[in-house]
Amino acid sequence: MSSPKPVRFFVDFDGTITENDVVDLILERYAEPEWRLIEKKWQDGRIGSRECLSSQVALVSAGQKDLDRLLGEVKIDPYFTEFVQLARQMRLPVTIVSDGFDWVIDNTLQRKLGHLPQLLRDLPVHSNKLTFTPEGPRLSFPEEPCEHGCATCKVRVIERLRGAGDYTVFIGDGLSDRYAAEASDLTFAKSKLLLHCRQKNLRYRPYFGFEDVLEWMKAGCPQDANTTERTLKGNA
Ligand SMILES: [Mg+2]
Ligand SMILES: [Zn+2]
Repeated sequence: MSSPKPVRFFVDFDGTITENDVVDLILERYAEPEWRLIEKKWQDGRIGSRECLSSQVALVSAGQKDLDRLLGEVKIDPYFTEFVQLARQMRLPVTIVSDGFDWVIDNTLQRKLGHLPQLLRDLPVHSNKLTFTPEGPRLSFPEEPCEHGCATCKVRVIERLRGAGDYTVFIGDGLSDRYAAEASDLTFAKSKLLLHCRQKNLRYRPYFGFEDVLEWMKAGCPQDANTTERTLKGNA
């Protein structure tokens, strides 16, 4: 048996670290209703997320104050902080990769983890950039365009940051995570991402929240093939 590879975590933000999708929340509240038609095109694979988000943000009429207020409603997974703390103790790097908005992520993390600045310091975020202008919010993309049409290509970030011998673990929930799941050694998957992992027969573990990831870490991050649902407790 070969020795286990060093684990490196890549974590989605909306719907994974947060309990609800903050991008959807912003669109539902502040965008003209056509945003849903654009969303459908993206879900159907007719456009990439770069085109999708650019068109959607153009429909948003909200100022920074509105979004500030909305952030007050955002809840994060109750075990996320413990997850980051344990990863730090075990010296496993954690990177946030999001197709959402940096302003939302930075502010939410500051609100929720601001009392633990040493944790925040080593929690890099790769995401789209949201700025506020008198005409409304504007979106820009620090990552180069990719073959999937992603706004922020999670695969690119993973490929760039992973060490040669790393065991990459992705944690996510949605359609914007599908390429990242395909590119990772193991995916913790829920919601739409779980369906995708099942369909594509990827190496994955279904999970409900970071409590389940903690359990896996406390068990020593087993890298065996026991990643199918059949092997998880509660499943026959
Ligand atoms: Mg998500
Ligand atoms: Zn991509």
